[in-house]
Amino acid sequence: MSTTLSESPDVVLIGAGIMSATLGTVLKELEPSLDIAMFETLADCAQESSQAWNNAGTGHAANCELNYTPQRADGTVDISKALEVNTEFDLSRQLWSHLVSKGAIPDPRAFLHPCPHMSFVWGDENVAFLRQRYRQMSEHHCYHGMEYSEDKGKIAEWAPLLIEGRDPKQAIAATRIVSGADVDYGALTHLLVAQLTAQSGFSVHYKHRVMDLAKAADGRWRVSVENVVTREIRTVSAKFVFVGAGGGSLSLLQKSGIPEGHGFGGFPVSGIWLRCDVDAISARHGAKVYGKAAQGSPPMSVPHLDTRMIDGKRSLLFGPYAGFSSKFLKHGSYLDLPKSVEPGNLLPMLAVARDDWQLSEYLIGQVLQTAAHQFATLQGFFPLAQRHDWREAVAGQRVQIIKPDRHRTGVLEFGTELVASADKSFVALLGASPGASTAAFIAIEVLQTCFDDRLTSDGWLGRLKEIIPTYGIDLKEDAAACRAIRASTAKTLELEFV
Ligand SMILES: Cc1cc2nc3c(=O)[nH]c(=O)nc-3n(C[C@H](O)[C@H](O)[C@H](O)COP(=O)(O)OP(=O)(O)OC[C@H]3O[C@@H](n4cnc5c(N)ncnc54)[C@H](O)[C@@H]3O)c2cc1C
Repeated sequence: MSTTLSESPDVVLIGAGIMSATLGTVLKELEPSLDIAMFETLADCAQESSQAWNNAGTGHAANCELNYTPQRADGTVDISKALEVNTEFDLSRQLWSHLVSKGAIPDPRAFLHPCPHMSFVWGDENVAFLRQRYRQMSEHHCYHGMEYSEDKGKIAEWAPLLIEGRDPKQAIAATRIVSGADVDYGALTHLLVAQLTAQSGFSVHYKHRVMDLAKAADGRWRVSVENVVTREIRTVSAKFVFVGAGGGSLSLLQKSGIPEGHGFGGFPVSGIWLRCDVDAISARHGAKVYGKAAQGSPPMSVPHLDTRMIDGKRSLLFGPYAGFSSKFLKHGSYLDLPKSVEPGNLLPMLAVARDDWQLSEYLIGQVLQTAAHQFATLQGFFPLAQRHDWREAVAGQRVQIIKPDRHRTGVLEFGTELVASADKSFVALLGASPGASTAAFIAIEVLQTCFDDRLTSDGWLGRLKEIIPTYGIDLKEDAAACRAIRASTAKTLELEFV
């Protein structure tokens, strides 16, 4: 593994989570001669949000997450966002398939397992919503193979823990897609960084925190990096900088001073899971089951009961329960939030505090919830759950974007946002959702935003199409291409195909 510090790399990647690891991988695939340096404050990669237990490991394809399919006033369901997320995941599948096929990732089972994705609701109104959602989604080729049932016997076949002990008179409904996945994004990040460090021209520097960055007169970025053990500060000069620092991205964007970053703020939401490692229970639940979110809750707080495969062991995860902490990273500081407030983002932040009272109300409610209340939410999904089989586990921190907006002065965003400098030499990734699943889509967006001059037929385009065969094809529109690529990636990645 190369840890020699190159004084003038072509590319600096800040942070060693799934996003930097994926972008680094794509760039080296396209141009093996690139000199890339990755800096990470912590002692290893994937120790923050990308760590396996700090996310739910859902291969988000909007199969089951009800927050992507809002109901319209006329009772129909808007599936447009779901289709976007669904086909963005195809890009990740293609990148992973490429890496498995060429042997850069030796075994897909090291990070990926087939896992049916289910939505599950109770109550007449929610059942009517799910029925309508199923009608519309199952008509679209992207959701080929989606199943629906209101029958308790059928749902018990799919996921018995949902039914045992439930009031037989309660109206329930579920959908299922068997081609879903459970992804260990921590293991994947390790695999990506390992195959990168095996290549010449890539170095990773753990225990190195990026302190500051500034554009110099020669057009290159001067990136100041502190060795957190020796406190020594070095400066490297890079042509291109990607800030994939998760909760640390906002402060680095502010330090960069690019005008495009003006006015952005962040609002941290922490999370807690309930985790069950009892084999006799986890062996009886093989699905990711997403329910309906409480009113006002942010999208990542949709409750779900998940099968997880981590380090060869099957466990269950339920949650997340949202909470509040002023830290922007798990290993961050309580001063992160106050220090992020600057004159440029004060008005947007105040506007969000004024307008998004539903989120504040939701978070206060979550923080004040007793352990008994929390457990009752799990029992809504798994009626016979026993307290002693479950323990609390940290779900990590997410920083929601507060975006400057001309009309309202500030708006809270739940998606992700790339903020690039006009000269395309710098880009920071802010935000949280849909997250790790769309890392390949985000890497491609970085290419289109900052390397568009290389995406030509005599540049990177041919190679990009080898890695992502459907690049340039809209899989929402092209049913045949969609089916063909899903069949092929399912085979390589050992996923179900229907
Ligand atoms: C509760 C929860 C559930 C989730 N569930 C899912 C899910 O089911 N599916 C999904 O796809 N996504 C999910 N996500 C989202 C997903 O985890 C994140 O989108 C993804 O891991 C972000 O990756 P990243 O590389 O941007 O950030 P991270 O993994 O957080 O990595 C950023 C790295 O940057 C480092 N860093 C920060 N500042 C500096 C600095 N100044 N210098 C050097 N290094 C620095 C940090 O130490 C860290 O290692 C979930 C997130 C949470 C919190």
